Order: sequence, then structure tokens, then C-alpha cells
Amino acid sequence: MIRPRFSKSFTQQPPIPEEGIEAAVAVMRSGRLHRYNHAPGEASEVVELEREYAQWQGARYCLAVASGGQAMQIALRAAGVMPGDRVLTNAFTLAPVPGAIAAVGGVPVLVEITEDLVLDLEALATKAAQSGARHLLLSHMRGHLCDMDRLMEIATAHGLTVIEDCAHTMGARWNDRLSGSFGLAGCFSTQTYKHMNSGEGGLLTSDDAEFMARATVLSGSYMNYESHGAGPAPEIYDKIRLETPNMSARMDNLRAAILRPQLRQLEQSVAAWNARYDLVADGLTRSPAICLPRRPKAEFYVGSSIQFRVPGLAPAEAEVLIARLAEAGVEVKWFGADQPRGFTSDHRSWRYVAAQELPQTDAVLASLFDMRLPLTFSIEDCAHLAGHIVDAVESVRARVSA
Ligand SMILES: *Cc1c(COP(=O)(O)O)cnc(C)c1O
Repeated sequence: MIRPRFSKSFTQQPPIPEEGIEAAVAVMRSGRLHRYNHAPGEASEVVELEREYAQWQGARYCLAVASGGQAMQIALRAAGVMPGDRVLTNAFTLAPVPGAIAAVGGVPVLVEITEDLVLDLEALATKAAQSGARHLLLSHMRGHLCDMDRLMEIATAHGLTVIEDCAHTMGARWNDRLSGSFGLAGCFSTQTYKHMNSGEGGLLTSDDAEFMARATVLSGSYMNYESHGAGPAPEIYDKIRLETPNMSARMDNLRAAILRPQLRQLEQSVAAWNARYDLVADGLTRSPAICLPRRPKAEFYVGSSIQFRVPGLAPAEAEVLIARLAEAGVEVKWFGADQPRGFTSDHRSWRYVAAQELPQTDAVLASLFDMRLPLTFSIEDCAHLAGHIVDAVESVRARVSA
């Protein structure tokens, strides 16, 4: 069967809701774009967003910042990471994660992942003991949650403070509890390709008052911390206000204005992503050569992208597979290439981190493929995409066995 070429863009997001556009125009008309610039008695868009996000996330506090990367850097610093400290993190994640550790002078200690793309918890326990690290920046990479109950037991046993990178899990849950609410803090991104889109942006949540006070001053509050939407009480700042530097990484009112209506639609977006994910995942099971990561019952995921492995594929065959898919208009990334392409960078391309032996992760990445599922794709588009992937995998396998 000849399938028509797929012609939609893999990087096209839906438009900003009209309500958000109107709110953004109102902010521009007012001229009050800076988060601390508000008329008497008025709550700024950022203040409202912080309140609404804290409530949605079930967190006591929320701080809106300039990016997801800044949320992680601020969280690490506010959690007490000092230059030279070791920080554990996933060997399979994206560049802003080791980048955030490097930004605070930390030393990334990379932990192996499993075939299901989550942190290997045995390896974590071993590395925690060997490295003496006190912090774990846990990346829920590509939306896959590890066994969070077991993870927190290990963290407690080894005295690890956990900071969660939820760039791909905004709205995801483990045993009904939202990602970002297990560790000391949750870090979220509102960059264009994440679950809400403000171009750039980040949100940091926590229940810890002193941590959040430090984070707020670090984010650049110019001592305006009393006007925050979901921040700790003013007296919490007394201890830390003069000894915490200002790193200027605030969110502005324009971005907050376009995020607030998206937050109101988030549950709907999650359902739309999962309908697309489940359809592609189901379609891929038609090829016996394709392995999907197992998704435990306790995990409620947000399927904004899909990953699959084709075990046993040689690098040259993987190149043929992605080239064939590209011809069909299907943008699938391969994590096994020796050079990073787009967002596929792996631990060997973070040369500022000391090289580390990670054979298990390398073996997984060698056969790992990844595809975005923007909400501009229809359900029919998803069936079409799964068909193309199955055809391409089967034809590459036929070549191999011929
Ligand atoms: C996008 C992303 C972040 C944060 O991204 P920003 O671009 O800084 O907002 C963090 N972790 C992962 C895994 C990401 O993909």
C-alpha cells in the first residue's frame, strides 16, 4: 500500500487562545509589563498566574520565572547546592538539565536509565552511596515517571534532596499524585514545545517556605516579595533577604497573560495528547520489531511525544530508517547518532561534564527513536503516522534479513 506523504509540521503548535491574546493586548496597552509594575490595588497577571498554578498543582507556593532552565538553576541554588557539589541526574535527558547543574557550579553525576526510559533505581542507590551527592535533579524525561514511591524511599535512605524536572510531565501523575509534588520542588517549562506555550517561561513550585523565599529573592524580586501571588509570609524573608543574591530571571506580565487561559484548558489538552499518543502506540504494536516503553498502572502520563525502540538495529540501518521516514514527511529523531541533531543531544555531547561510563544507557539510546505529537495533528494524522513508521521499520528489517 502506498501511503500519501505526511505534510504537516512537527513544530507547529496551536494558536494562543483568543482570551490570552486579548489579555496580552490589554497588558501592552497598559504599558505595565514588568511583574512588579501594577496600578494600586491591582494584581498583576504574573501574581494571578502564580496563584492559579499553585492551586492547580496543589502546591503551597509557586514562583513564575523566565524559563524552565532558570527554574532548575534557582531551585538547585535555593536547595543549597554549592560550587563543586555533586548532583545526581538522569544520563538520558536534555541539555538544560546538566546545564542547570553546571550553571550553579555543580558536578553532574549521571545515573543509568532503563529500557523504559526512567532512572534505574538500583543504579541510583549505588551512585548515591559512591558519590556522596546530597541532591538529585530528577528528570521525568519525555514524560516517563519512575516508581516515585521507591525513588523517595531511596532518596530518604541516602539523604538526597530531590528536585523534579517536570518539563515533560506538567499534568502527569504517579498513583494520583501530580509530578512535581514528590520532592522539595517541581520545575516546569512554558517554552513553546512544552505543555503550555509562552515562547519562554518557567514555573517553580514547593511547599517549603524558606526554600521558596530564597528562590524568590534569587529570581530577582528587588525586595518586592510581599506582592507575590503564592509566596511565603514576609517574615520568612527576614533571615535570607540580605544574604541571597539577585539573579534576575523573572517572568513578565505578557507571558503570564497568555498562560492563564492555557492553564484553564490544560486538562483538555492532556486528554487530546493522550488520545493521540494511545492511537500511535496502538498502531506501532503492528510491527513485532518495535518495542514501546512499558507504562505502569500507577503512571498517568501526558503523551505529548512518543518514544519507541527497534532493538538490534545497526547504526547504518537506523540512519536508513530515519531517512526513509523523512522522505515520507515523518520527523522521527534518533538518539543513537554520534552528533547531536536538534534536541537529541546525549551525555557524550555534554563535554563540560567529565566523561562517564554508561553502557546500559548507551545501549538503550542506540535503538531509541522519538517523535513529537503537537496538538495540531488530528487523530487521523496519528493513524497515518503510525502506518508510515510500521512500513518503514518493516522495510528496513526486510533489507536486513535479505
Ligand atoms: C525543555 C526542557 C527543560 C527546560 O527548558 P527551557 O527551555 O529552559 O524552558 C528542562 N528539561 C527538559 C527535559 C526539557 O526538555
